[in-house]
Amino acid sequence: MSQRMQQGQPMIILGDDSQRTQGKDAQSMNISAGKAVAESVRTTLGPKGMDKMLVDSGGDVVVTNDGVTILKEMDIDHPAANMIVEVSETQEDEVGDGTTSAVVIAGELLDQAEELIDQDVHATTIAQGFRQAAEKAKEQLDEDAIEVSKEDYDTLLEIAETAMTGKGAESSRDLLSELVVDSVLSVADDDSIDIDNVSIEKVVGGSISNSELVEGVIVDKERVHENMPYMADDANVALFDGALEVRETEIDAEVNVTDPDQLQEFLDQEEAQLQEMVDQFVDVGADVVFVGDGIDDMAQHYLAEEGILAVRRAKSSDLDRLARATDATVVGSVDDIEADDLGYAGSVAQKDIGGDERLFVEDVDDARSVTLILRGGTEHVVDELERAIDDSLGVVRTTLEHGQVLPGGGASETELSLHLREFADSVGGREQLAVEAFAEALDVIPRTLAENAGLDPIDSLVDLRKTHDEGEITSGLNAYTGEVIDMEEDGVVEPLRVKTQAIESATEAAVMILRIDDVIAAGDLKGGGTDDDDDAPAGGPGGPGGAGGMGGMGGMGGMGGAM
Ligand code: ADP
Ligand code: MG
Repeated sequence: MSQRMQQGQPMIILGDDSQRTQGKDAQSMNISAGKAVAESVRTTLGPKGMDKMLVDSGGDVVVTNDGVTILKEMDIDHPAANMIVEVSETQEDEVGDGTTSAVVIAGELLDQAEELIDQDVHATTIAQGFRQAAEKAKEQLDEDAIEVSKEDYDTLLEIAETAMTGKGAESSRDLLSELVVDSVLSVADDDSIDIDNVSIEKVVGGSISNSELVEGVIVDKERVHENMPYMADDANVALFDGALEVRETEIDAEVNVTDPDQLQEFLDQEEAQLQEMVDQFVDVGADVVFVGDGIDDMAQHYLAEEGILAVRRAKSSDLDRLARATDATVVGSVDDIEADDLGYAGSVAQKDIGGDERLFVEDVDDARSVTLILRGGTEHVVDELERAIDDSLGVVRTTLEHGQVLPGGGASETELSLHLREFADSVGGREQLAVEAFAEALDVIPRTLAENAGLDPIDSLVDLRKTHDEGEITSGLNAYTGEVIDMEEDGVVEPLRVKTQAIESATEAAVMILRIDDVIAAGDLKGGGTDDDDDAPAGGPGGPGGAGGMGGMGGMGGMGGAM
């Protein structure tokens, strides 16, 4: 490499530690790094995708099938590789599912681009072709999409179920998808859905099938005083974001007490003040009081005397959730509280959950904030279950917000690929080649689904294309049987937005990587896009060994062979 640097760099303008790679070398280095990232998650795609075990430097273990989780845990530091990781992060943030697909498509676009570059098609031409193809793809997907209404409960269940397929939630998919759809419907506001209003409580112990939905809030707190009741039925709930303590004087006053009576008077005054504060809650009829800050011992005592269940140091996020669930208003000052500010819960009770005492606030009128209790035999199981549920919540939300879905199992990608091939003819010039390459790249989804299911990818693709040629636009691959079936009928459906977002981010990242022809690194640039890539079949002996200096990236080229 130093040789190349001398060729391209007659004058030394960079520091000693700097590294520079230019032209085709830079391109192929970045492409290899990007492809390596995609390759590392490819085997997890689809219902029969395998899981990965990731062990961090501290020895913590994560077992997962979730693309974005794998990539985040992998500690990737090659800059181009990171651009592909970002694709999965954007996907996660925007739509909550399709993180593996997006990355796999990006990797395949890079692979296709590499072939075109080898045929001397300029990177800019490829980029333009890819962009055009992506635009067309989005239009086409829009056209193929199936409308889903909020009332179509069964379809929502199918969408929820498709997203959790292959993620360790299989055994209780029916139950879990119901929990997910019910949760999202509960927290949905008229014009938006904030999934943060679905809280998740993970409990180790019991089985996944014991998971349940609490239409309300579980607060990780106990009543503050032992003389308070454990529970309250038909409870008026007050939310106070402040302290039930004696107000500190504004200025740092020193109180000089000259005789014991004076001291007593002073203490009496304090107590009276606390009693007054508590009386405010009593007067408005509160049965349960959540306080954001501390509660003075005396105030606790008064509250207990009144039979009020109180909690101190409730997190402000808990107060917000309680406000949504019970329809209460959080007040900032005790003096301001009115009966109107109180919320209602049919039941507030301190209960044991997984060995911890928590306060359950449920049986509310309109639970706009809910809690999913996820159970599983071990911590790893529950953690992966949570990721499956996260994806599932995301797709139901996305569907409710946008109202359109597409058939899964490679159906929409196959259909799209056929359309793009047709479209390519109308493009002409060298860009046509890029559009065709883009179409080809989309086949990576059905191909990988087939591969991961132990099917022959060529046969599967041929079967799929045949049915699509015959106009069956929803036919996809049943990963369990290997048959090509109607995915819509089979209930394997995914939000349109998941597909369009995947194509959009994958294209953007691929184009960005392709357009780079000069990499100047101030320090040592690690070579291996995925240093801890544990994907033996993909990496092969020449794979991740390429770490250490950019020149080593040549070794990564071997990754393409596994595709
Ligand atoms: P991602 O992170 O991209 O969501 P997944 O591992 O969840 O990756 O796999 C998603 C792919 O699996 C999609 O292409 C989807 O259509 C497909 N899929 C999901 N369920 C089925 C099924 N029952 N049969 C065939 N394909 C399925
Ligand atoms: Mg998924």
